[in-house]
Amino acid sequence: TQLADPPYLRNLNPPQREAVLTTDGPVLMLAGAGTGKTAALTARLAHLLYTRKAYPSEILAVTFTNKAAREMRERVGRLVGDAVEGMPWLGTFHSIGAKMLRRHAELVGLQSNFTILDTDDQLRLLKQLVIAADLDEKRFPARSLAGLIDEWKNKGLTPRDIDAGESERYANGRGGELYQQYQDRLRAVNACDFGDLLLHALTILRTHRDVLEQYQQRFRYIMVDEYQDTNAVQYLWLRLLAQERRNIACVGDDDQSIYSWRGAQVENILKFEKDFPGAKVIRLEQNYRSTPHILGAAGGVIANNTGRLGKQLWTELDAGEKVRVLGVWDGPEEARRVGDEIEAAQRIGTSLDDIAILVRAQHQTREFEDRFIAIGLPYRIVGGYRFYERAEIRDALAYLRIVNQPADDLAFERIVNVPKRGLGDKALAKIHQLARIEQMPLTLAAARILDTDELTPQARRALGNLVGDIARWRDMARELPHAELARQLLDESGYTAMWQAEKSAEAAGRLENLTELVRAMEEYESLGAFLEHVSLVMDRDGDTRQPEVTIMTIHAAKGLEFDTVFLAGWEEGLFPSQRSMDEGGTRALEEERRLAYVAITRARRRATILHAANRRIYGQWTSSLPSRFVGELPPEHTDSETTMSGGESLWRANWSDRTDPFADIARGTGRGPGWQRAASAGSTFTTQPTRLVESRSSAVSLGNKGRSDLSVGQRV
Ligand code: ATP
Ligand code: MG
Repeated sequence: TQLADPPYLRNLNPPQREAVLTTDGPVLMLAGAGTGKTAALTARLAHLLYTRKAYPSEILAVTFTNKAAREMRERVGRLVGDAVEGMPWLGTFHSIGAKMLRRHAELVGLQSNFTILDTDDQLRLLKQLVIAADLDEKRFPARSLAGLIDEWKNKGLTPRDIDAGESERYANGRGGELYQQYQDRLRAVNACDFGDLLLHALTILRTHRDVLEQYQQRFRYIMVDEYQDTNAVQYLWLRLLAQERRNIACVGDDDQSIYSWRGAQVENILKFEKDFPGAKVIRLEQNYRSTPHILGAAGGVIANNTGRLGKQLWTELDAGEKVRVLGVWDGPEEARRVGDEIEAAQRIGTSLDDIAILVRAQHQTREFEDRFIAIGLPYRIVGGYRFYERAEIRDALAYLRIVNQPADDLAFERIVNVPKRGLGDKALAKIHQLARIEQMPLTLAAARILDTDELTPQARRALGNLVGDIARWRDMARELPHAELARQLLDESGYTAMWQAEKSAEAAGRLENLTELVRAMEEYESLGAFLEHVSLVMDRDGDTRQPEVTIMTIHAAKGLEFDTVFLAGWEEGLFPSQRSMDEGGTRALEEERRLAYVAITRARRRATILHAANRRIYGQWTSSLPSRFVGELPPEHTDSETTMSGGESLWRANWSDRTDPFADIARGTGRGPGWQRAASAGSTFTTQPTRLVESRSSAVSLGNKGRSDLSVGQRV
């Protein structure tokens, strides 16, 4: 009853077909960006269903995001139509882990209706444990413990696996003990955290042979997309499941491994053949996504990484446009230029849905958002909140609102115990009660209640400090420029310190966002004007589905594609990030370079890379160098322009002239005493880059600040 050439095979090239038709035995599809790995995996799923090689329930397919899972489900639906009923286990590791855990919760001491804690709940619980353990939470922040436990869970380590050395990483060796207590607590309240979804699922398979065998039998076929970004616990879980039938197909690209900071191990893809002897390795070399210039540009950059498997990519598409490298004066001009170009593209019929702006760091979206709102250009932020909706920004804004308008009760409620001041629910209830009875704002009620004996001494002291602080900030607001006020307020309130105490990458991102918030304030005349702008921005109703420009981080863009892509902020210290440069060595920098590769290869037709000569940090203009990755773009695939008069020729000389003594260095070939070396050794800005700064600075008549200010200014 089957067609000779079913619909899902029609458009596939021979190696893709092979990947689809080799249903039995281990298969590894190892190929570069845009070569149709995900497409082949989807077709494979369709094939298994269409030919009835397996019931849907016998297939396990893992995607990296929920969005990817949805897309795959839709595509399979389209490909095989109503030919099958039911659906495979298709989703992210977390969603599949949760599904498995619900079925066997009792085996790890939970009930099947367990709750999944969010990070706030998780932190609250850990904090209680830290305090109960008689530890000074300031010295040993619960956040650090949370990060550590997360790391252990990603590695597949239960409390029992934590040895003295690991345990030493928190509170003088008490890490393991607190981890155990945390797990006990979770069990007692019938809850688990995100990390548990997989760790428990793994524990169940490890400790219950019968369950393991049941699933090994059940999952005839296993498929995994983006395999290069699996972490240890995911890997161990997969390996157990696949061991029996060995029908496992994984696809990935070692050059696109960008989640090592979350515990992903690119080695997993490199040792696939060892784990599954006899694996068929299929390489795809034809790229269907991007023009030759885009591929050439991406290839030129990634070629600077060491230890790659190396892949050939070719395409039948027309050469198309070269990748544009656009030097602009500063951040606002970057946003303006991108906005103008998008409007121009729109006028000639381009849909906004086909356009994306990719940034390295979340805080970069702010400048684009502000600009797009100003010109009425619809946009959406994917894989993250809009800038002004992020928790840390809302907290900071709440402080500013209180200073601007003490009757702002919502703002008061938001910050009254953030950071934690030891104001319990009882104290807060009393403030509310008084405010209700006297019909006064909460800030005022808080001040009044200090004159009564309603509060415990501790609550009284804490509240007294806050009330005093607010009054003081209001005084300061009359004298200080508002951005300066914000900076001091965030420090004095302990809000900045709260995030500094947490050493995670996420916390660092939040601190950067706060810096960016202060920077944004500088552009407004007064605190009031700024806050009004923010409320207008927040009020925008974005849910009517109209075409929109997508703004997102490169991390969130993995696996996606757009006709036109703008890559913003390719500057040293921003991309590669300052953190990766400070780390020293090549490990972090190579991950940044893979990010650059992922970024460029999202584009189908047009890619524009932007870098600004100046970024405003704390009201001071700081000149910045174009990213080393800009220098690594092969000139034959790029067109460079700059909007800066006079800057052009010099800029060209620095980056494009092969006879220039800096050219090789700048291109990051890594030979000789290159600045890349210097940077990786930790001495970020040594002589040569400085000379670049100076020469460029003078050409654009900007000679005030050295680039090294950035690292100081980056933290609020
Ligand atoms: P990434 O590494 O970025 O995840 P990928 O290898 O998964 O990329 P896909 O997203 O599957 O690549 O495919 C890239 C583009 O090429 C998609 O638009 C897809 O529809 C198209 N494509 C894939 N295979 C073919 C083919 N055989 N013929 C024509 N187009 C194809
Ligand atoms: Mg893909």
